[in-house]
Amino acid sequence: MYILSPITQAHYLSAMIVLVAATLAVLIDLVLRFRDYRKLLHLISVAGIVKFLGTITLVFLQVVALFYLITLLPGPVRLVVLLFSAFVILIQLSYWLTLSQFMTGTDLFLAVTVSGDHRVAAILSFFKPRVVLYTLPYMLILSVLMILVPPIDRPVFALRETFALSALPVVYLLVSNYVLFLHVPERSFHLNPLTSFVRSALHCKFENLREYHGPRDDLPPFSVSQRPLDNIIYVIDESVRGSNLSLNGYPRATTPFLQSLVTRGLLKNLGICVAAASFSHVSNAYLITGHNEFPDNAFRTDKNPTILDYAKKMGYETIYIDINQIYLYSLIKAAGDRPVRSLDRWMNDKSFKERHIDLETTKDLGVASVLSSLLNEGSGLFILVNKKGLHFNYRDRYPDDLASTIWKPVMAASQSIDPSEAGREKLVNTYDNGIRFQVDEFFRMFVSETTNQNYVMLYTSDHGQTLAEHGQVYTHMKPDKEIVDVPDFFVSGERYSKKRLLDCIASGIRVSHLNNFATLLDLMEVPDSLRVRPYDKSIFALTAEDNRERYYMSGSLHGSGDYVVRAIHTPPDQGWGMSRPVDNN
Ligand SMILES: [Zn+2]
Repeated sequence: MYILSPITQAHYLSAMIVLVAATLAVLIDLVLRFRDYRKLLHLISVAGIVKFLGTITLVFLQVVALFYLITLLPGPVRLVVLLFSAFVILIQLSYWLTLSQFMTGTDLFLAVTVSGDHRVAAILSFFKPRVVLYTLPYMLILSVLMILVPPIDRPVFALRETFALSALPVVYLLVSNYVLFLHVPERSFHLNPLTSFVRSALHCKFENLREYHGPRDDLPPFSVSQRPLDNIIYVIDESVRGSNLSLNGYPRATTPFLQSLVTRGLLKNLGICVAAASFSHVSNAYLITGHNEFPDNAFRTDKNPTILDYAKKMGYETIYIDINQIYLYSLIKAAGDRPVRSLDRWMNDKSFKERHIDLETTKDLGVASVLSSLLNEGSGLFILVNKKGLHFNYRDRYPDDLASTIWKPVMAASQSIDPSEAGREKLVNTYDNGIRFQVDEFFRMFVSETTNQNYVMLYTSDHGQTLAEHGQVYTHMKPDKEIVDVPDFFVSGERYSKKRLLDCIASGIRVSHLNNFATLLDLMEVPDSLRVRPYDKSIFALTAEDNRERYYMSGSLHGSGDYVVRAIHTPPDQGWGMSRPVDNN
């Protein structure tokens, strides 16, 4: 009763205003997103009705609690909150217009961990002007709420009183969101963009508390007598859709150089690979740790030794080239100034500046030339690369000259995705120009500048892109099957000492990201006694009978939030593994 005692008649009136404001806000949401609510009702079973109503009540009271907390704030702080709310509502509604949902915990996690460049690209791809109009009614209610409920005007007692009054709603928000975290999928029950945001933020916090933060498992003791003579490069490209490469049968000549490498016997193509996930950080987590179960609710991607650990153990010098700042980047940041286990050199944008390479101009060709010089200077290298590739906006991924603009018309520099036929034509043209430059020209430069011919490169992409094929206005981060369509192939030097391995790959195999880890271990000649996890088969061990179902996931890496696990079956649905070019050429 201590908390309730300061409630005077004025407070009672305020509470009533809060209740009305919260009801109105929820009604606005119902009107604005009516189709989503209708869809939600269809999904609910009779047995789920009680849980549904319970959750609705829980979330409605969250709106009340949040609004009540706002009324406790002093005048100037209210203005800041009002502006911040406008920002949050704009983002939430942009997400909803693009992806038919508010931000999930995973989206929020990405928004705060990726580089600024990716953030700007995401905002550009999501932003739609009408979202400003949709934000207005929410802002109107908040403003009226702040005007009708005057700030507490007794400065001496204000602080203590505010604290006492805010305790209950704060505790309620924490506890109710923890209940949602444990029991209710994220995609359901968003009555308000602000409380949904609070939920996602707390979801990230709860998830972080539950996650594994200890060291990775050690590899058994082992020592090699000498440094290997060969070099292994593992390139994880960004947003490259496998079926947009003419190497994989795409009707436009997007990769003529790669095809010439096939003729010269220097490229072994594995066809369309199924990516581990439709999110960059999830795919990278699986690719780098060899984990093979979805989702990762045992935190194996945080516990498994990395590919760098194995490379180091086998005597390779390990280098990580990261100009995309997606997955390992955040791990490296988390490690602070401490060295990352088994990593000898970490090269980022700064390292390129020191080498006087301007990545803004050279794009990924700067990476190709650094790779060549590293190989030409030494041997026994294991180099992991996170390229920038074709991350949206595609127009920024190739030079602004006639020679690089092969397919026209193209999108404007910072245009969002327009799924109409005319918009799609520009989208695909721009993307294909990007493939020609960021993939084909990358390899042309790398192969022509590399004199040390004892190397192998395993190349894939973290995930593909929708290219608005079915009218999508998002590029990835959803379970659509075209998003997990990625390339997978080897390029080897003319004097690669383990070429026999590549020559023995069975025909008719189907590959998945999950096969890449053991493949790299085979290339390093890691003995079985060192392999501490039951990894998926190496590409060298695959037969035409394996991988009849190739699984992937989309959403929350550790399964605490929204996620789905799907499969690409054999034979695949019609149209899978093919990309539809625009019609006129
Ligand atoms: Zn990505």
